[in-house]
Amino acid sequence: MTKHSQMTEDSQAANVVSEADRAKLRKLATKAAEQAYAPYSKFRVGAALLLQHGAVVTGCNVENCSYRLTSCAEQGAVARAVAEHGPGIRLRAVAVANLNEAASMPCGACRQTLAEFGDDSTLILYPGEGGAAMETTLGQLLPWAFRAEYLNDKKKG
Ligand SMILES: [Zn+2]
Repeated sequence: MTKHSQMTEDSQAANVVSEADRAKLRKLATKAAEQAYAPYSKFRVGAALLLQHGAVVTGCNVENCSYRLTSCAEQGAVARAVAEHGPGIRLRAVAVANLNEAASMPCGACRQTLAEFGDDSTLILYPGEGGAAMETTLGQLLPWAFRAEYLNDKKKG
């Protein structure tokens, strides 16, 4: 897949994600889920990240026959975002979707992964019960996240 188009300039300037962009992110996440490699769980997940400067990067879950090596859609998208846009990426919004008509939000591991590149205000879009378009923030999903700043000057032993 190639990189997706930039989001609107208006939404970048105000750091607000418009309804149109939210819908677009959900659609791109759903499209990414179609690429999922999920032969074991059959749970096909996609993620679409809206980066600080408006670029969108997608990912899907990739399972492994050893099971524990499975990587989530969000983690795949973050790795791809860093590879394509560098280590300075910041997350404005994250959309998650699945093809199983299931309610799903980022798992615990993914919340920590997203916290590395997002902040408490990062918008999280996810499917709720019955396909409802739900949203929350990373700060709501992972309050008191462990952050890199805690590593500073704490190495005395
Ligand atoms: Zn996950």
